[in-house]
Amino acid sequence: MSSLIIKNGTIITMDERRRIISDGAVYIDKGLIMDVGGSGELLGKYSADSEIDASGNVVMPGLVNTHIHLFQSIGKGLGTDVNLLNWFKTVWTPLVQGLSIRDYIASIKLAVLSSIKSGVTTVAGYEHVLSLYPEALNRIFKCLRETGVRFIVGYGYQDSGVEIGAPETAVRDTDEIINGIENVFSRFSKVDTNMKIWLAPGTVNWCTERLLKETKRIADEEKTGIMIHAGETLSEHKYSVEKRGLPEIAYMEKIGVLDRNVLVVHAVWTDEREIEYLWKRGAKVSHNPISNMYLSSGVAPIPEMLDKNITVGLATDGAASNGNEDMFDVLRVTPLLHKVHNKNPASMTAEKTLEMATIKGAKALMMDKYIGSIEKGKKADLIILNMKLPNVTPVIHYPSAIVYSASSENVDTAIVNGKVLMKERKLTSMKEEKVLDEARRAAERIIKSTNYKPSGK
Ligand SMILES: [Zn+2]
Repeated sequence: MSSLIIKNGTIITMDERRRIISDGAVYIDKGLIMDVGGSGELLGKYSADSEIDASGNVVMPGLVNTHIHLFQSIGKGLGTDVNLLNWFKTVWTPLVQGLSIRDYIASIKLAVLSSIKSGVTTVAGYEHVLSLYPEALNRIFKCLRETGVRFIVGYGYQDSGVEIGAPETAVRDTDEIINGIENVFSRFSKVDTNMKIWLAPGTVNWCTERLLKETKRIADEEKTGIMIHAGETLSEHKYSVEKRGLPEIAYMEKIGVLDRNVLVVHAVWTDEREIEYLWKRGAKVSHNPISNMYLSSGVAPIPEMLDKNITVGLATDGAASNGNEDMFDVLRVTPLLHKVHNKNPASMTAEKTLEMATIKGAKALMMDKYIGSIEKGKKADLIILNMKLPNVTPVIHYPSAIVYSASSENVDTAIVNGKVLMKERKLTSMKEEKVLDEARRAAERIIKSTNYKPSGK
């Protein structure tokens, strides 16, 4: 693998001291960050196979999207202006029913394309449909690897919960699910930091106690993580309280499932006691502010969680409950939402938002040893932002410029494992027009095969 030096840029390191290096350089070799420092110093020390001049631009860690549903990218606009329970009926069910492997792959490619274009280099895909297509896992994993993006792949499933939104077609018998999980790990156990398999039980309400406990047992044995939706909406919260006497996160604590390797997705309806449990167990949280607004789910108590030192990462959620997979939209909306909700401009800052999108996102995915900051020895996952565009001019305070002024249009270059996946906004690992064409055709097939009538047409 060839070496690369990025020179003359402003390096937002996100290292422990949160250093910002003006006129800085990053030397990359063998897919790793070998050195970071002043341009003069590094150019004197190394001669690389290629150079990128980042004059006037920002070099920062690639963004970490801690929660997305790759299969939903072709489902944009399938159902709009509804709450979560109706969304399951109008979006989720037809999408899952109509989805062929070909459509799924078209959706994955579209989601990855959008992700790279918005500066994302690590994607945590929560894929309910994986367990429905055991015969196609090879093909799907191959497709993921070929994109060049770093993946955490959530192997999704559920064994109950039809009365609380679980689509009947996606509910399976508990033993069948457990066998499926064990089979996946026996076939794909040699996963690396480029693609790691996690367990993804649908929601707390969609799983029996046995399935949740078995999930925890297997995740511990395989030394991997669990991603699970919990506390997303008031109706789900109430359902859990009525059924088990406890809200979802408190219930996970009670049955011994809440732990350091658990990423709780949403955690909107989370009370003080549950925040305490999250902290005590070292569990992580994925914050999806746009999706929570889109479905009118509520506002997660993220400032309170950050005050407690709970690790929170940012996410888009699936495009069908966000509108797209643009992490720069999430960067901007996150602090604005908490400021207005708390009527306090300091309740969420640009600096805290940047942390959640990079190093804390990496920690939420148990990947902070490898990614999330520009530091010697870490994987070379970074992006270069064009800071010469009108929307970010003039740059007086870098975190503010990135969070409040920039958009994905500023993402010029994306690099994963030292490999340039996008330069001057042109993709190197995929043909953009082809991906868009295939996605359009897949969406048409789904609409036709399910006889779906889009609302508002
Ligand atoms: Zn989700």
